[in-house]
Amino acid sequence: MPSVLIVEDSQLVLKILRHIAAKTLHFDVEFATSRQQALKVMKSRQDWLAAIVDLSLPDAPNGELVDDVLEHGIPAIVLTGSLNDQKRDHLTKCGIVDYVLKEGRYSYQYAVNMVNRLYRNQTTKVLVAEDSTVTRRFIGELLSRHLFQVVEADNGKSALDAILADDEIKILLTDYNMPTMDGFELIHELRHRHERTNLFIIGLSSVGDKYLSAKFIKNGANDFLYKPFSHEEFFCRIMQGVDATERLDTMRAIAYTDSLTGLPNRRAFVERGRVMLRQANDQGGPISIAILDIDRFKQINDQFGHEAGDEVLIHFANTMSEALDRFLFARTSGEEFVVLMPGLSEEKALQLLNVLRLQIETESVFTDAGTVEYTFSGGIAQGPAETLEALMKMADELLYRAKEAGRNMLLIS
Ligand code: GH3
Ligand code: MG
Ligand code: MG
Ligand code: MG
Repeated sequence: MPSVLIVEDSQLVLKILRHIAAKTLHFDVEFATSRQQALKVMKSRQDWLAAIVDLSLPDAPNGELVDDVLEHGIPAIVLTGSLNDQKRDHLTKCGIVDYVLKEGRYSYQYAVNMVNRLYRNQTTKVLVAEDSTVTRRFIGELLSRHLFQVVEADNGKSALDAILADDEIKILLTDYNMPTMDGFELIHELRHRHERTNLFIIGLSSVGDKYLSAKFIKNGANDFLYKPFSHEEFFCRIMQGVDATERLDTMRAIAYTDSLTGLPNRRAFVERGRVMLRQANDQGGPISIAILDIDRFKQINDQFGHEAGDEVLIHFANTMSEALDRFLFARTSGEEFVVLMPGLSEEKALQLLNVLRLQIETESVFTDAGTVEYTFSGGIAQGPAETLEALMKMADELLYRAKEAGRNMLLIS
């Protein structure tokens, strides 16, 4: 776990910072109230993630500690009571991450949140597509200051290849004029041909061409920046970008997950399953699908209550996840689950699922409403099939026959 240094001489402000840090940060936090103390603490360990530093301390009235912190290579967030334009320019140019005016609780919360942001930035990749080496390096350095992982490309084509090969690239900063493929074409390819919707794109344009910014947006960029830009404006736009992609990722995760069991849902299964079926068809290997349905689940609800029913669903989901973790599985509706098994013939799938069936048959679920024992039935179908839906339909018909034949049973064609 990395550590965070917080230096502030006002006891009142320090108290607030301690309180917020305890609630917000999951790192080792060290506190100091003077430059002398801070220097000692700084030398005592190596794993600094960031420092929140008061600009004026009794033994360092003019930001001397900020310079110390930067010399140690520690990202610095500066707290200050007042700031004129000159001081602000100096601070942002000398390499700090951000400054925060001491304007009350919210500003301290902002400073502490910035530490968490820096931590997450370490795993966020940003691609800079720009043919000017000087500008590219300059932007790269700004991004490294905020601990982003920076990927560089000096033309549109290699930017495109890099992004398509790496899902972890979350933000693209792109110039317009570049060899082999310009910025518009790059964005067009990404948005329209490859449907990369979760990528935040910022166009870079020179002030000279005032139509360029609008064109960027019309081509599918989220935002644009005029060159030259202030450090502060640059980071504000980048922060908005990462916030937006994180929100999108969270929403996506929610949209693809079943909230009760935490399993992938039908939407996730269908999207991923289609790709896997296509791959199996191309490679010519077997692929099997099973639809599994808990037997007389309605009776369990009736007898033990809905909550106990939920616990049974969770029990089944957990048991299934453990037994079938190398395959794609999902909760597709109420008490119905599905698993796609590339590489397995239906006979092999039957063997595997019979182990699960016997396990479920013998285990009990202990709920507040009593001990529940239950079974499930399933239909197993084997590809190749034209579509995932066709394969699911075959399995569904076999499931229906298993139910008719008495339940607690798996059937293959
Ligand atoms: P069969 O053996 O033929 O599959 O009978 P069954 O009772 O399992 O099937 P049926 O489709 O008649 O009933 C399924 C029940 O599952 C009805 C519904 O109220 C219940 N159910 C659906 N979703 C949930 C859920 O999230 N939690 C709980 N507790 N019950 C659910
Ligand atoms: Mg002070
Ligand atoms: Mg059922
Ligand atoms: Mg059912």
